[in-house]
Amino acid sequence: MRKKGYFGQFGGQFVPELLMPALYELEEGFNTIGQSPEFKDELTDLLHNYAGRPTPLYFAKRLTEKTGGAKIVLKREDLNHTGSHKLNNCLGQVLLAHKMGKKNIIAETGAGQHGVATATVCALMGLNCQVYMGVEDIKRQQLNVLRMRLLGAEVTPVTSGTQTLKDATSEAMRAWISTVKHTQYVLGSVVGPHPFPLMVREFQSIIGREVREQITRFGLDEPDVIVACVGGGSNAIGIFFPFFHSNAELVGVEAGGYSERIGDNAASINYGKVGVFHGEKSYFLQDENGQIIPAHSVAAGLDYPGVGPEHAYYAESGRASYVTVTDAEAIAAFKLLSHTEGIIPALESAHAVAHAVKIAADMQKEKMVLINLSGRGDKDSQSLQTEEGRA
Ligand SMILES: *Cc1c(COP(=O)(O)O)cnc(C)c1O
Repeated sequence: MRKKGYFGQFGGQFVPELLMPALYELEEGFNTIGQSPEFKDELTDLLHNYAGRPTPLYFAKRLTEKTGGAKIVLKREDLNHTGSHKLNNCLGQVLLAHKMGKKNIIAETGAGQHGVATATVCALMGLNCQVYMGVEDIKRQQLNVLRMRLLGAEVTPVTSGTQTLKDATSEAMRAWISTVKHTQYVLGSVVGPHPFPLMVREFQSIIGREVREQITRFGLDEPDVIVACVGGGSNAIGIFFPFFHSNAELVGVEAGGYSERIGDNAASINYGKVGVFHGEKSYFLQDENGQIIPAHSVAAGLDYPGVGPEHAYYAESGRASYVTVTDAEAIAAFKLLSHTEGIIPALESAHAVAHAVKIAADMQKEKMVLINLSGRGDKDSQSLQTEEGRA
């Protein structure tokens, strides 16, 4: 029998007793309101007329010629409003909270991308928004802190632990327990306890569903390979899931940082171990005592020491493979795509670009490699300069 909220042995609801009523209420809301035709129509309208979907499926001709192998095609999530795929999920979750009668939204953020997307939809729907963010990240991501405040959100500094994303997530979960009646917690990736991984997957699957329709333009039903970067794993699941029952090869790219040593990267599937953290069973970077080790990546959005349970399951079952790309390789791909196509990718997405170019070079010209270009790179221009200075 399949256990609810599990993907194989991964997932579950490992949370304090006090949080269970909130998770039940959310699951109930998602299964009733969230599945109603009215909700789906309203969400579709917002995705089209507010977010700007469908995002284009673009044949990167010059990049393909330069690589000299398979056709490289980009799914342009960077053109979504606010600059990444994150808005797809926030529109879904915040609209659901609104319909469930919640007045307050809380969220966690690392780089600030999820915080900005959440603050955006709260402004749109007239809800209060409080974003938990580590003090370290507040210092590093000043522009996004400004954007959130401009959108009317309150940014709450988190001073525990390493003062980064994992601590902000823990703090947001704690805050939810004490305020659950009027408050909804909006999680930014396919992580955390059930029903979040399932719900976020549904909201992000719009990416892959659009590709299914758009790819017929190339006379195909599916690409040969789909490549996406994996932080928590939401943009990757969003494009993988609609192709689960297909012949497309699915490849997730984890952040290889600057070495394979634990703590020097954010590659939980490649270098982590099975454990339980933030309410789910999955792969996490941890020491020999099971303590979570802070992650590192040049891409702030990949800087999380765990991965969503569905990816853990895809990895274990072999449906998808997971590789790593280093900081240096991602930076090179960031420049390559900017120069050849006039598209500045997010450093997160540049990890997918780097791997796609590597494999496309050895594939025949009739084949197609599809990259999920999860976001745009304006936010990274400055940190890239700092990296260059260091090199
Ligand atoms: C947050 C972010 C990611 C990583 O999150 P996933 O849940 O793994 O998709 C990747 N790309 C961009 C542009 C992001 O903002």
